[in-house]
Amino acid sequence: HEERQRQSQKLEAIGRMAAGIVHDFSNLVAAVDSGLRLLRKRLAEDPADPRVASLIDEILKRTETGGALTQQLLAFSRRQPLAPETVDLNERIRSLTSLLERTFGEGVTVRHLLNPGAGSVLIDANQLDVALLNLAINAKHAMADGGTFTIETSDAPDDLDEVKATAAGFVRLSLHDTGHGMDRKVLAHVFEPFFTTKGQGEGTGLGLSQVYGFIRQSGGHIRIESEPGKGTSVHLFLPRASMTAGD
Ligand code: ADP
Repeated sequence: HEERQRQSQKLEAIGRMAAGIVHDFSNLVAAVDSGLRLLRKRLAEDPADPRVASLIDEILKRTETGGALTQQLLAFSRRQPLAPETVDLNERIRSLTSLLERTFGEGVTVRHLLNPGAGSVLIDANQLDVALLNLAINAKHAMADGGTFTIETSDAPDDLDEVKATAAGFVRLSLHDTGHGMDRKVLAHVFEPFFTTKGQGEGTGLGLSQVYGFIRQSGGHIRIESEPGKGTSVHLFLPRASMTAGD
């Protein structure tokens, strides 16, 4: 009975989310459509019009958001059982470097502080990539005027009481941004599905709730520290792969 209720709640959530995404997506398409019409008009009048370039940037921003929206829908609908494996954390992060740099574009410096002792974690590697990308997109939104995104790994998770008791069992992966940060009120709700401070067509409020679900399901922990005007740090405590597991 409980299981069936959980299932129907989940379906309801998916339906609600799909409706939200369809709505946001059609708004985006409408915006792209009118942007392109305006672009055609300006090009016909004066191909050297300096506003042409900024209009193209504007349109590209919309299509990028559209891509992120469909990614979220995919990630949600594909929520299959996780497939944890032994993953060399530093190596996995390095393999994401160019994707992350492309995600941020020019205004943001991507910095690595990878501790050689971080070692291996037991995690679904593809889902970890999706989670990191989600967190990077949030950081990008928070650093619209540029900044620094730092990816840090540590073999000594030091700052989390709850985890301290079994600290040896976790590897810390922290993502720091120098963006606009969050106040306490926002911070209190960030893991809730559909909670967003972004405008229509810009956010679904699902990114962090997904990351939270994934990390908890993987046996890990997630903590966020943030200061308005200074930036945000997301700490992921990932289960260490046991040395004897044959890696
Ligand atoms: P969305 O990004 O679609 O709004 P999320 O669940 O990923 O959904 O994030 C929820 C809210 O948390 C965001 O709307 C934003 O207000 C806040 N947030 C998330 N990450 C950051 C960050 N790195 N810096 C500042 N605010 C953030």
